Amino acid sequence: MKIIAGNWKMNGSRDALVNMVRALQDIDTSNTVILCVPYTMLGVDGGNVYIGAQDASAHDKGAYTGEVSADMIADTGARYVIVGHSECRAYHNDTNDTVRQKAAAVIAAGMVPIICVGETMDEKQAGKTMEVIESGVRESVPSDPDGDVIIAYEPRWAIGAGLTPTNAEIATAHKLIADTLDSMGLSNTPILYGASVKASNAADIMSVPNVGGVLVGGASLKPDDLIPIITSIK
Ligand code: PEP
Repeated sequence: MKIIAGNWKMNGSRDALVNMVRALQDIDTSNTVILCVPYTMLGVDGGNVYIGAQDASAHDKGAYTGEVSADMIADTGARYVIVGHSECRAYHNDTNDTVRQKAAAVIAAGMVPIICVGETMDEKQAGKTMEVIESGVRESVPSDPDGDVIIAYEPRWAIGAGLTPTNAEIATAHKLIADTLDSMGLSNTPILYGASVKASNAADIMSVPNVGGVLVGGASLKPDDLIPIITSIK
């Protein structure tokens, strides 16, 4: 079972989500499809598609104006939450430490965190890709999680840029993540690849060892872009 997760970022509307869910109802796939949408769209019935959020507070409740707790997200029927996305790391100063706390809160609320790790262009050029990925996994994934987790390898320099690493680079990164998860007692954790996935490259990326699915940003917004990605992944 592969996982195809969409990240709508700050785009869309409830109507657009209803339309997308309707368009996906008759898709011929045995894979898991998840749409991670803005908080205002949670609660829309996903039918055979799982609905998820894009972030969660590390806190349970209280004086955290503007934040939304994992329990509140779970209360809408959502099943998945992205944590540690590149944009949250860049614009909200999320660190591995806060990402781990958010992931733990998501698990405690009975949902599955999609924990993003990946290197920036500066880190890549400084030869730190492997170090950043390994520490990202070790420090962002709660130890002995009391529930499932999903990892997304998202090279930060490639997100939204129309760029993708080579398959060899993806293979090296995913092998490192798989080995790191093994050493943490988390074998069989799905590892998604994300950044500039589209219909023309999805199946090829899925052929890389240890790639268990894709996290799709821009190409998850319209049925005409997303459906061919889903159907290309067997
Ligand atoms: C993302 O935002 O998680 C992402 C993968 O974006 P894009 O597919 O647009 O690069």
